[in-house]
Amino acid sequence: MSTPVEMTPTRSGTADRAPAGLPSTLRTPFHVLAKPTGPICNLDCEYCFFLSKESLYPGDRFRMGDDLLETYLRQYLGSQPDGEVTVAWQGGEPTLMGVDFFRRAVALAEEVARPGQQLQHTIQTNGTLLTDAWCELLARHHFLVGISIDGPPGLHDRYRVDKRGAPTSARVLRGLALLQSHGVDVNVLCTVHAANQDHPLDVYRYFRDDLGVTFIQFIPIVERENETGFQEGDTVTDRSVDPVAWGTFLGSVFDEWVVRDVGTVFVQMFDAALASWCNLPSSLCIFRETCGDAVALEHNGDLYSCDHFVEPAHLLGNITTTTMVELVTSPKQRAFGQAKADTLPGMCRTCEVRFACNGECPRNRFVTTPDGEYGLNYLCAGYKSFFTHVDGPMRLMAQLLGSGRYADEIRDVFASMGRNDPCPCGSGRKAKACHQR
Ligand code: SF4
Ligand code: SF4
Repeated sequence: MSTPVEMTPTRSGTADRAPAGLPSTLRTPFHVLAKPTGPICNLDCEYCFFLSKESLYPGDRFRMGDDLLETYLRQYLGSQPDGEVTVAWQGGEPTLMGVDFFRRAVALAEEVARPGQQLQHTIQTNGTLLTDAWCELLARHHFLVGISIDGPPGLHDRYRVDKRGAPTSARVLRGLALLQSHGVDVNVLCTVHAANQDHPLDVYRYFRDDLGVTFIQFIPIVERENETGFQEGDTVTDRSVDPVAWGTFLGSVFDEWVVRDVGTVFVQMFDAALASWCNLPSSLCIFRETCGDAVALEHNGDLYSCDHFVEPAHLLGNITTTTMVELVTSPKQRAFGQAKADTLPGMCRTCEVRFACNGECPRNRFVTTPDGEYGLNYLCAGYKSFFTHVDGPMRLMAQLLGSGRYADEIRDVFASMGRNDPCPCGSGRKAKACHQR
């Protein structure tokens, strides 16, 4: 953690309008993904939905200026309650800004943060441009670094290529090793798509055993087929993950994780699901009833409703002319977040795993239900099978937590079962034909 110091709201411009004088309890918590290089990246991953966003700003240099950096940090930190505040950087490829930009960003954030705020810096990167200088900065300020890896090289390199179409895994792994050698906290972000969807355990074991990674995020690739790169059209590219395969992928990884890795490997999707089984709000916006508290800030100050909706219809305004708080609390953004619940099809409203799924993200809702209602999630079949599949173990872990014990004690439950005992997951099968397989 960094050491926050007293905020000094003395600068000119819109930063002065940040609500620095509000009591902490009246501040509005929201999350910002800042994109200092906009969509610009040194790679050319085939499924990337962001590269096409360059056309939103024709002729632009796509670099966040220092004035905007300051306006952003003063408005954002001034608007956030005390406690942990995440300052998140993303792209495109944010490391293209150079390490000095981030030195300034960290120093400024620490200057601006109030004594009651603890900064958590995060950055999502493809890892190919990391150097010792980068890693020293990231380690010193306890960044949580998300690095994009799609599995072993043969799977990773299928779509994650550079501008010449060359594979990138060797450069990414060099970056990962550098981060690990500097003791930086790393979270692997793995997209699941047509090339790796049928290899869940190869992917998971590679991260856990070969790369020594203990924080993993799986994200489904659902790439709409259109010319704009926006969330429109109802067909997907052949790179997109198959809905059923998505559910099988998650279920297969879960089965291995739940008998041996709970408590030592953190899979974001499983933690989020466990929260739902504990009647807590999900940590992932996609599984909450409503959303709208996670906005995307472009390099020029334009603020969009969400990182997945950086498109003209979802532009809220520019933070140099209207404060971020005004934009985030605007009727337009409230309506965006509420629409997640209001547009849920009837099939979801009566679904037995709705409490965990909530129709997932609106960006993937472009399918027609069997009874003809538009707006079902493309991934529905996968989520239904996954959430149904994990119900028994999730109930067990929720019971453990509810009685003041630890979720990882579930491993002992599985370890102590006899081969012919009923599997503790509640499937009704013998252990040897279920989680002991
Ligand atoms: S649109 Fe999707 S990703 Fe964006 S905030 Fe809502 S649920 Fe989250
Ligand atoms: S599993 Fe399918 S029907 Fe159920 S809430 Fe999710 S998207 Fe809706």
